[in-house]
Amino acid sequence: MEIAAILDSALQQLLAFKGLLVLLWLLLALALEQWRPAALPPLHLAGYGAAWFARWGRNLGFFALNAALSTLLVLPVTIWAASLQLWARPAEVPPLLWPLIDIVLLDLWIYWWHRANHVVPFLWRFHEVHHRDRHLDATSALRFHFGELFLSALVRAAVIIALAVPLQSVLIFETLVLVAAIFHHANWRIPAGLERALGYLVITPARHWVHHHRVRRDTDSTYGTIFSFWDPLFRSTTPTERTQLMPIGVEGRDEADFIALIGLPSQAVATRSTPPIGPSAIAPARAPAELARESQP
Ligand SMILES: [Zn+2]
Repeated sequence: MEIAAILDSALQQLLAFKGLLVLLWLLLALALEQWRPAALPPLHLAGYGAAWFARWGRNLGFFALNAALSTLLVLPVTIWAASLQLWARPAEVPPLLWPLIDIVLLDLWIYWWHRANHVVPFLWRFHEVHHRDRHLDATSALRFHFGELFLSALVRAAVIIALAVPLQSVLIFETLVLVAAIFHHANWRIPAGLERALGYLVITPARHWVHHHRVRRDTDSTYGTIFSFWDPLFRSTTPTERTQLMPIGVEGRDEADFIALIGLPSQAVATRSTPPIGPSAIAPARAPAELARESQP
């Protein structure tokens, strides 16, 4: 059956709404980051020089590739999986409740998928591209290797089929994931009380930045995407608190250029089996003079 025939006008509207909402949210996040940043970038990225824009080029380059891949591969796979509907969902559950149930179930799935990306060496090959970023802002939420995206779509298709998740629920979930990812990667300073209150339900920047801490025991923790209750439930929290000077990235590894990042999954997995590196690899990515200046009241 033609994909165009399956996509009725309501779904097309949902897709257009998703694109517009995510774009507006991204622009708002980028503006708020300029207004109230939470952390300073490492020295080599400071001052909006060539290195800064090269970084944006890498992150947005992956976004452009992924947008094309989503249309060509992820969307058709998802539509196919959602169209199977191998069993009928119980009629006792009010129809309006299903999207809510689906969002919680799909968020539980993405929690375990993310965790598997850190534990399974083959999956880490792809996911490492996301973590190599040496600073975080809203563009980091868009930086994923297309291999990870495709593998994720295949595994998710199995979940969609098993749970008979309708396409509308998947599209709502995808929209929420993008909104949540832009939110918790963004470098914005949220009033502490508000961030703490939000943290009871959703993953906040303070929580997710610790996941990007350039220390492996923290990188391998805090896997939640939308809801914050999976990590305490499955014991994957870390006691580490985010600090303004927390170094971001992968322990013992550094950023690479766009072409090298695309080829990263083809490199030997030995990278992750190395023991934790010494203090030099996890030192803050700032000069001592700057550290001293920032520690002054
Ligand atoms: Zn991760």
